[in-house]
This record gives sequence, C-alpha cells and structure tokens, in this order.
Amino acid sequence: MKPAIDVIGVQKCLGCFGCFNACPYGAIEMVISEEGFYIPRVNKNKCTNCGICQKVCPIISTPSIDRFPKPIAYAAWSKNNKIRLTSSSGGIFSELANIIFEYDSVVYGVVWDERFHPVHVEATKDEKEILEKIKGSKYVPSYVGDAYKKVVKNLSEGKKVLFVGTPCQIAALNNFVNHLKIDKSNLYTVDLVCSGVPSLIVWKTYLEYISKKMGERNIVSVKFRDKSDGWSHRTIRIEFDDGYSYISPFLKDWFCWGFLSNQYLNSICYNCPFSKIPRQGDLTIGDFWGVPKKLHDEKGVSVVLVNSKKGKELIEKMKKRVELVPVNFEEATKDNPRIIYGKFKKPKQRKELITIARKKGFKAVIRKLMFKRLKRAVFFLIRNPKQALYLLLFKVLR
Ligand SMILES: Cc1cc2nc3c(=O)[nH]c(=O)nc-3n(C[C@H](O)[C@H](O)[C@H](O)COP(=O)(O)OP(=O)(O)OC[C@H]3O[C@@H](n4cnc5c(N)ncnc54)[C@H](O)[C@@H]3O)c2cc1C
Repeated sequence: MKPAIDVIGVQKCLGCFGCFNACPYGAIEMVISEEGFYIPRVNKNKCTNCGICQKVCPIISTPSIDRFPKPIAYAAWSKNNKIRLTSSSGGIFSELANIIFEYDSVVYGVVWDERFHPVHVEATKDEKEILEKIKGSKYVPSYVGDAYKKVVKNLSEGKKVLFVGTPCQIAALNNFVNHLKIDKSNLYTVDLVCSGVPSLIVWKTYLEYISKKMGERNIVSVKFRDKSDGWSHRTIRIEFDDGYSYISPFLKDWFCWGFLSNQYLNSICYNCPFSKIPRQGDLTIGDFWGVPKKLHDEKGVSVVLVNSKKGKELIEKMKKRVELVPVNFEEATKDNPRIIYGKFKKPKQRKELITIARKKGFKAVIRKLMFKRLKRAVFFLIRNPKQALYLLLFKVLR
C-alpha cells in the first residue's frame, strides 16, 4: 500500500502528525512545505508499504467516535477573573486543566518555542507553570511531534489525559488510539472551534517585519488575544526585550487581517472535513461570537459544546470553577458557523501571496493585501452606497 501522503497529495494534507506517530518503521519525518505547512516526507528506503499511515490519516480513514447526535451548548467563563482575563476566550482550557490535575494526569497543549513556532507539550500537575505558557491561542500550525505516542504511554500507565488541539489533530489522535485498540476511558479530548491555520512562512516574514519596523528590537513575547481593549476587539500584543510593546487590533494589523479574511490558510482548511457535527472532541471550545446581550462581557465568553458522555462528566466537575449557562445549539452556532461548516472560498491569490512572502518578505505581502482591501472597499461602496456613507460618517464623527 502507498504511503498516505501519496494517496491524498500535499494539498489535502492536514499536517496533523497522525502518520508520523503511527509509522512503526520511523520512515516519516515532518517538514515545512514550501507553502509553510507541516507535511510528511517519507523515506522510501525505510517504508515497507504496510499501510498503517493510511489507517491513521483522518482524510483517508474517518475516525470512529461515539458522539451525541446534537451537542449540548453552553455559554461559559471561568469564575476566576485572573484566568478569564489572561485567556483567549472565557478561560475554559485552564479550568479543564485544573480539574484534570485533581487526578494522576497529564495535560497536552501548545506553547511557543524560541522562534515563536507553536509546539505541543505535556504538563503534569507538578509543572503547573507550563499551563501559563499553554494558555492563549497561537494562530499558526503547531508542531505535534510524537505527542500522540506519549498520550498512549500515559494511558497505559493508568493516567488520565487531557488533550487540546485543532479538530484535525483530535481526529488524528482518535484514529491513532483506535488503531492501537487501547483502553481510552481515561482520555479526554477537546477540539477548538478552528477557522484554519495560516502559513508559517508568512508568519516568519511578519515577525521579521515587525521586529524591523520597531527598530530591530528582539521579540520576547507574542499574545494574539490581548484583552486590555476588551475581548471582542481582538488585539495582538508583541513585546520586545527592552520593555517596548507593539499592540494592534486585528483589523489594523496586516498579518491578523490576512488571517481573519482567510488569505493564506492551509489548503485543506478551505474545506475542513472536521468543522462539523459530530465534533471530534469530547468537548468543543471556542469564542462565543454572537453571545446573547445579557451574557456579553468584555472579559471574554466561551462557547462550550458537550459532545459525549465523557464531555458531560467533565462539565459536571467544572461547575464549581466555571459559570455555565445553557443555550440553544442554534444560538451558539449562529455567528460562529465554523462549528458546523468547514467551507471557505479560497482566494485566487493565496499561493501568490505565500510565494511573495517567501521571496520578497512581508512588506510586499502588505502591498498586495492593501490593493485587495481597497478593491473590496470599492465593491462595497458600489453595491451599498447608503451603508458606506453611514459608515464613513460614523468614523468621521466618532
Ligand atoms: C488556529 C486557531 C483558530 C481558531 N479559530 C477560532 C474560530 O474561528 N472561532 C472560535 O470561536 N474560536 C477559534 N479558536 C479558538 C479560540 O481562539 C480559543 O483558543 C478557545 O476559545 C479557547 O480559549 P480559552 O479561553 O478556553 O483558553 P486559552 O487559554 O486561550 O486556550 C488556548 C488553547 O488552545 C490551544 N492552542 C493554542 N494554539 C494552538 C494551535 N496553534 N494549535 C492547537 N492548539 C492550540 C492551547 O493548547 C490551549 O489549550 C481558534 C484557535 C486556534 C488555535
């Protein structure tokens, strides 16, 4: 049997690390593609064509999972304001970790490495300081490494495991544990509502650009969801080694605008097979965009979907730490369609933008994005002249 990547092709690869973890011959290494996404590279001398990678690849083998026909939905937030304010949404991840740490357990989540590339790491209850680093969304693809293999080891040692990741990462983990036929009663999975991951190449050139723009300062911290201006404004904060900070709302920052408008996502993210019901995790967490007015709070509100019995078990335990308000499923998905629908229109210039970033740097990307934004504004003006005038007046008078 051919390796999974030769069956699906690079454009459909999720970069989920399923095949990398599953290969019993160490024939697969993960590399960054020329578009800036993790892809497997198969060493044909080591590959025996055993086909195990096909069993674990979520594109080829749909994970077999036990989920409620319709998730139970909540608006939720941590009762601890410090946790809530320092998390991306309502601080649900940290509270889940605190709950699982009441047992002999391990938590898997994502931290920045020294180059500001996200990496999946493990934390035990004696390493609570790692939770602070896992906290917060990193809106670029994470290096999963051999985390799924480590999860299996933890489970075989009788530990409880909480694993948080994008829907495709949870799908790969589900396939991996199913393939090994191990007891998964102690495995708790949480998938994020995910609008896709942008290119690591564009990300790298953006960081170089910001560092230069700020007078060749060295970046020491990146926070995509700084809440000093509130939760719903989505603000990026980059800190430098001399104490200086760059702070910008997503709409005024070119990388974030490009991410929000899906300019340079992984190809498969434009047709995500896992942004749908049934969700891959026992729980799904995200921002509660469109939260009912009476629950809106600029400290941050999460949407939580309970997808399975194990998810329900976690929710019961969360009640002492988390405010949970039941909402209709339809209300939870109304302004967050990515919960149920994985399709986006792929911009014609996507590949060109990534190539420009690689060859010319982020300044050249900005020029392209400016032109695109201007074109959009002109089209909007032509189609909705009254609304455009109203928006302009609102901006001038504000
Ligand atoms: C790439 C990406 C796209 C997203 N898109 C949406 C969206 O369109 N709509 C929406 O409602 N929510 C989206 N989210 C989820 C949202 O940003 C928050 O991560 C989520 O609501 C959890 O917030 P929190 O306050 O509970 O905890 P936080 O402490 O903010 O938790 C962050 C959690 O995300 C994990 N994580 C961070 N970066 C990554 C990464 N690169 N890959 C995998 N896991 C990661 C961490 O391990 C941690 O468990 C996205 C997240 C990511 C990473």
